[in-house]
Amino acid sequence: MNATTSPLTGSYRIVDHAYDVVVVGAGGSGLRATLGMGAAGLKTACVTKVFPTRSHTVAAQGGIGASLGNMAEDNWRWHMYDTVKGSDWLGDQDAIEYMCREAVPAVQELEHMGVPFSRTEDGKIYQRPFGGHMRNYGEAPVPRACAAADRTGHAILHTLYQQCLKHNVEFFVEYFAIDLIMDDDGACRGVMAWCLEDGTLHRFRAQKVVLATGGYGRAYHSCTSAHTCTGDGGGMAIRAGIPMQDMEFVQFHPTGIFPAGCLLTEGCRGEGGYLTNSEGERFMERYAPTAKDLASRDVVSRAMTIEINEGRGCGPEKNYIMLHLEHLGPEILHERLPGISETARIFAGIDVTKEPVPVLPTVHYNMGGIPTNYHGEVIRPTADDVDAVVPGLMAVGEAACVSVHGANRLGTNSLLDLVVFGRAAAQRAAATTKSEEVIPPLPAGAGDAAIARFDRLRYAKGKTHVADMRSKLQRTMQKHAAVFRNTESLAQGVEKIKEIWSEIPDISINDRSLIWNSDLMEALEFENLLANATVTMAGADARHESRGAQAHDDYPDRDDKNWMKHTVAHMTDTGDVTLSYRPVHMKTLTNDVQVFPPKKRVY
Ligand SMILES: Cc1cc2nc3c(=O)[nH]c(=O)nc-3n(C[C@H](O)[C@H](O)[C@H](O)COP(=O)(O)OP(=O)(O)OC[C@H]3O[C@@H](n4cnc5c(N)ncnc54)[C@H](O)[C@@H]3O)c2cc1C
Repeated sequence: MNATTSPLTGSYRIVDHAYDVVVVGAGGSGLRATLGMGAAGLKTACVTKVFPTRSHTVAAQGGIGASLGNMAEDNWRWHMYDTVKGSDWLGDQDAIEYMCREAVPAVQELEHMGVPFSRTEDGKIYQRPFGGHMRNYGEAPVPRACAAADRTGHAILHTLYQQCLKHNVEFFVEYFAIDLIMDDDGACRGVMAWCLEDGTLHRFRAQKVVLATGGYGRAYHSCTSAHTCTGDGGGMAIRAGIPMQDMEFVQFHPTGIFPAGCLLTEGCRGEGGYLTNSEGERFMERYAPTAKDLASRDVVSRAMTIEINEGRGCGPEKNYIMLHLEHLGPEILHERLPGISETARIFAGIDVTKEPVPVLPTVHYNMGGIPTNYHGEVIRPTADDVDAVVPGLMAVGEAACVSVHGANRLGTNSLLDLVVFGRAAAQRAAATTKSEEVIPPLPAGAGDAAIARFDRLRYAKGKTHVADMRSKLQRTMQKHAAVFRNTESLAQGVEKIKEIWSEIPDISINDRSLIWNSDLMEALEFENLLANATVTMAGADARHESRGAQAHDDYPDRDDKNWMKHTVAHMTDTGDVTLSYRPVHMKTLTNDVQVFPPKKRVY
């Protein structure tokens, strides 16, 4: 073990490690990548701030999308078309083709690993309809979501963890990754982490680092994400000079329980649930005549918001919508939606077999993230090459932007993204990583910048508690980067975020210890949330159109001529953002499929 004294105040014990691959994150994407790396014989470590099976993936309810066709005819090309359309033509079609083709073997692989899927009468994997998943290029909803009751993420995550244990991979549990180690040429060489239990710092040297740290839902006041979803991977990437892509596209899920925000899966509507306004009207029939309550999430969330804004919300303050499940009957609810029955009872005091549940659109998913190609390699566009790869760095899962979800993700396509691209990243790493002996030594001073940042926060002597700053950030995002946005409100949002940056020197930390110091950990997480939020607001402010989850009142139409392009956002250490753009991949991987040219998106 080495000892180091920080340039500021602290003295630290540093433990050095060398691995072929270090995966940061043990959610569905991190575990699928870890498993594949281990199986390929790479010396692999998985670093995670929570115990693997407590990652947010455990909360996924409704299902994983694959055109198995177990309940009705289906075809991966229809799935591809739905995903391109769902993305509002901002998704990269090569990556979408890859994901939808690979979906069928990926789900079969999960089944063989032991995921306890629900079953049809004849023993096949049970599938339910989900928003935006249609038969024959948009004709009518098709059951495509492979489900384990309403606990699909739980089933998948536990199975993946068990499979990881079978292989020779090492877990570093309750280790908090602080920052990437980069060299002067811009390559990633490792990562610094903090062991929460004994306070040691760990310097991981690796040929590849894979960021699988999940989303940043907690940048908002009301979200369905776990408290751990603080965008740490995005924060680390931004500080390492990597841009973020399409961050303005934040998904609001239509059915968060009012007011708690906990999720009621879209599978509720997949099983036949529907929404009503204060007049008892099934209003989705007006907004989406074909798909109705199963239109895609951005469409349903906007319709609900319009109903509320026009005075047709329910309750004394007319500020929520009703979700009806009571007509489905206790038997179906018990068998297919047991988890949400429990959630509604605990968080809304409602028996779903008897009465409707009050719901409201709630932040749920980040379409944007660290840009990657469909192998999981991180991209940092250069003047000569918009698809230039960052050596040594990969990203998968919600932290990444492949981009298969474009401007709006379809339900069930995230669990799919995790396993398909987790596996792809492992295959790529296996093909491009040499044996253990050649893990190159670290450059001089490796990890010093991470320690300096850690130390600055540890000894922060300001007056404002992190919780207060975080709350200010969350309220700013909730108000200014909402379901509907406009020029004035976004400009105010940008200013308020600048104000929060100016308050950073005033952060107060009470606990200077290194062991289980949640005060310090929340400060590190807060800086990550702020980094993600800053590029989100800047991207939204700049994008003068409405597409997918970006609904801009002053630019209500999609503008393919000027805006069918990915936002690429760089940020400095003081929060200044520079935006550039890169083209959407309007090409496919194989010659036997056509690209889907843009057209108007109706459901
Ligand atoms: C309530 C809910 C229900 C959902 N239902 C569905 C569904 O039915 N179908 C679907 O397709 N999608 C669903 N989603 C979306 C999907 O579940 C998520 O997008 C996905 O699980 C994210 O997985 P992930 O592997 O990217 O990250 P996560 O599962 O969020 O895991 C992140 C991992 O990173 C680690 N980590 C983070 N920061 C650090 C750090 N600094 N140091 C060390 N480790 C770190 C954490 O410990 C954790 O292990 C749902 C989401 C929610 C919130």
